[in-house]
Amino acid sequence: MYAVEVKDLVKYYGSFMALKGITFHVDEGDIYGLIGPNGAGKSTTLRILATLLKPSSGVARIFGYDVDKDADRVRRIISYLPEEAGGYKYLTGFEYLSMNAKMYDPENFREYVEYGIEISGLGDRIYDRIGSYSKGMIRRLLLARALMMKPRLAILDEPTAGMDVVHATVIRDIIKNVAREDVTILLSSHNMLEVHYLCNKISLINEGRIVASGSPSEIIDSVNASNLEEAFVRLVRG
Ligand code: ATP
Repeated sequence: MYAVEVKDLVKYYGSFMALKGITFHVDEGDIYGLIGPNGAGKSTTLRILATLLKPSSGVARIFGYDVDKDADRVRRIISYLPEEAGGYKYLTGFEYLSMNAKMYDPENFREYVEYGIEISGLGDRIYDRIGSYSKGMIRRLLLARALMMKPRLAILDEPTAGMDVVHATVIRDIIKNVAREDVTILLSSHNMLEVHYLCNKISLINEGRIVASGSPSEIIDSVNASNLEEAFVRLVRG
C-alpha cells in the first residue's frame, strides 16, 4: 500500500483549472517533495490531501483511505503544516503545544510536548508568548506541532518559507530526523537545492501538471542537466 496515492486529480476554482490531472505516489518512509513555481498547484494538492479542499475529480488516498470519503480516518493519521499560519499569539509556545497534544491524546500528552519542545529548538523561549516570536520561531513552533505526534504522514507546505539560511538548515535536519522515526513526509518547496538535499523522490509540477517524477538524480540525468534548476527549465520548455 502506498502512503499517498494520487490519480488523475483535478481541481477547479470556479472555471479555472488549477490541477489538470495529477498522478503520483509516495511510498512509506519517503521524504517526497512537490516542487514548482508560484501558482503551480502545490498548495492545492497538499490541501486536498489534508482534507481541507475537495477534489473536483480523480482519486487521492492516504494509506488506503480516500481523502474525500474517509476524511475522518485520514485526519487521524496525518498532520498538516499550512503555508501561512499565525494566530494564538496570546498563548505561550508551551501552551500551544500542550493544547494540541491534549486534543490528540489526553493521557500521554506530556511526552509529545517534550518531543515538540525538542523539535522546536526554542529552549526557554517556549515559555514566552507567541506574539513575541519572530517569523522563523513561529514556523519552528508550528513545525513542532505538526511533527511531535509522529503522524504516519506529515504534509508540510513550504516548511522553510521565509527563513534565513541557518534556520532553514535546522528545519531540514529536523525533518530528516523525524523521517527516521517512521514518519512519511510530503512537502512542497520552490527551493531546488533544498529538495535535492532533503527528498529521496520529487515531482516537478508546473501549471497544474506534473512534468517529471523520480529521484533528483534520475530527473537531472533524464535531461542531461547539471542540476535540478536546469532540469526543470528544460522539462518545462519541452
Ligand atoms: P505558491 O508556490 O505560490 O504557493 P502553489 O504551487 O502552491 O503556489 P496554488 O496555491 O496551489 O499554487 O495555486 C494554484 C493556482 O490556483 C494558482 O493559479 C492560484 O491563483 C489558484 N488558486 C489557488 N487558490 C485559489 C482560490 N481559493 N480561488 C481561486 N483560485 C485559486
